[in-house]
Amino acid sequence: MSEIISTNPATGREIGRVHVPRDIPSIIEKVHSFNQKWSETSIRERKRLFLNLKKVLFKRYEEVAHLIAVEQGKPVIEAILAEVLSSLDAVHYLLKKGPSILKSRPAPHFQPLFAGKRARYRFVPYGTWAVISPWNYPFAIPFIQIAHLLFSGNTVVFKPSPITPLIGEKLVQLFLEAGFPEETIAIIHGGAKEGEAIITDERVQAVVFTGSVPTGRRIMELASRKPKKVILELGGKDPAIVLPDAPVERTARGIVWGAIMNAGQTCASIERVYVHRDIYSRIVDAVVEEVRRIRMGNPLEEVDMGPMTVDFQLKKVLNQVEDAKKKGAQILTGGEVNPDLGPLFMEPTVLVNVNREMAVMKEETFGPLIPIIPFDSEQEAVEMANDIPYGLTASIWTGDEESARRIARKLQAGVITINSHVYSFAEPESIWGGVKESGVGRTHGRFGLMETVQIQYMDEDYSGKPEIWWYPYKKTLEELTAMWLELMANPTPVDKVRIMMRLSSRIGYLNRHLNLPRVIWKTMWY
Ligand code: NAD
Repeated sequence: MSEIISTNPATGREIGRVHVPRDIPSIIEKVHSFNQKWSETSIRERKRLFLNLKKVLFKRYEEVAHLIAVEQGKPVIEAILAEVLSSLDAVHYLLKKGPSILKSRPAPHFQPLFAGKRARYRFVPYGTWAVISPWNYPFAIPFIQIAHLLFSGNTVVFKPSPITPLIGEKLVQLFLEAGFPEETIAIIHGGAKEGEAIITDERVQAVVFTGSVPTGRRIMELASRKPKKVILELGGKDPAIVLPDAPVERTARGIVWGAIMNAGQTCASIERVYVHRDIYSRIVDAVVEEVRRIRMGNPLEEVDMGPMTVDFQLKKVLNQVEDAKKKGAQILTGGEVNPDLGPLFMEPTVLVNVNREMAVMKEETFGPLIPIIPFDSEQEAVEMANDIPYGLTASIWTGDEESARRIARKLQAGVITINSHVYSFAEPESIWGGVKESGVGRTHGRFGLMETVQIQYMDEDYSGKPEIWWYPYKKTLEELTAMWLELMANPTPVDKVRIMMRLSSRIGYLNRHLNLPRVIWKTMWY
């Protein structure tokens, strides 16, 4: 059994170790064999457990936020706001809205011939899901996904990022402390090898993966070997478009927060800012001023920004800064690591004179960089914003509702916010997910919850009559079918009556097979 050592990114010191299991199949078996039992628990019992979960998370929220700050590096207040509060709210949402969203519902027949039958949609869990998570929001992302999955009757095999394993451990402990049976959720630590072993296991019926685009592609490929459901929440390169009427100070503050929170390591961070030339210089000045006010330091103290979480990510960010400088970009503030604080403290950085040839304008940064570019027309801004393979979120900054909606309709993104950015992750009703290479499927909210279940159609007929289309095929059936087709081909009301009269000559035959009064009634309104 090997180990993963977890370190504090602010100090570089070890904070704990976890075991990487060898026998992954037996862990999966334990969860898988509990599927049936868990899916049959009453909604009342599940609600009881989720109520406990809310209490446990509330009781332990400071402990959780402290661990997030120490292992991942975001300031404690950010950990509370972005990770704990959104998780707690997701549980509250499930308790209030989950039962009605997942309740089976009637599916009234549309085709008049079938009048007399009854049908329902039922929402059935898939079974065992793999939840594979990244390190940037190591608590909220898997917590909300797992809560949705358990609520709808699935069981979960969870692989946290090897960079934040202790937070993964804590998350599972909370569910167990709330009373969830230990067979409903299993944790498997490790990296790519363990992740692949989980995804290719036949007993895992579906995967929700959050991480980078290259890993997402690999996951989809692996999942296709024995086709299974896949939800991919992948990278982004999100644009913010600032129109000439945007209030300068508020917009600058919003953009800086949207770009720099979590040291820029948010899938939906603002990574490209397009500003109308009429207010370009005022926005640039205000952004620089706001960035210079950011207090960087140990995330356990009263600061706005902590260290970056891992050295390979910092290296990527520094490479983008170098590449941009070489190609003519100007750094207005930041651009370097602050060695007095530690090796992972990257200064928040504002870049101008940037262009589409630079990596910083086309590849995901995942760090505290704000490149700003001017535009002259709305069309130019939209083209630049869409000119990228990603499409996670986007924001528009303006006081004019009409312009905002017009532009929003043209943007390619899963989430669009006007005069704010990224916050909607914390709204339990909103969906999360991207278009293009930013992902497949949705999590969060009612549509995310619906993705955790398979829609089953259940059709019922207790009339005892043989179906009209069963053997033997007779000439009469052919004639009737022809009349029926005529009825469907937009006849006038007079034509309808004529066809019905022709049909009435076969009333005995029809009656033997159909619920005729209901068929006629539905046909009149068809
Ligand atoms: P990553 O793709 O390197 O790893 C994510 C997870 O996948 C980790 O648990 C990792 O161990 C595992 N993994 C790696 N290779 C695997 C394989 N071959 N098979 C199975 N599992 C494998 O991503 P990361 O560096 O942890 O996270 C950063 C990325 O995540 C960024 O691109 C960011 O945009 C994206 N992200 C997206 C969202 C979203 O909601 N769209 C949210 C957060 C992060």
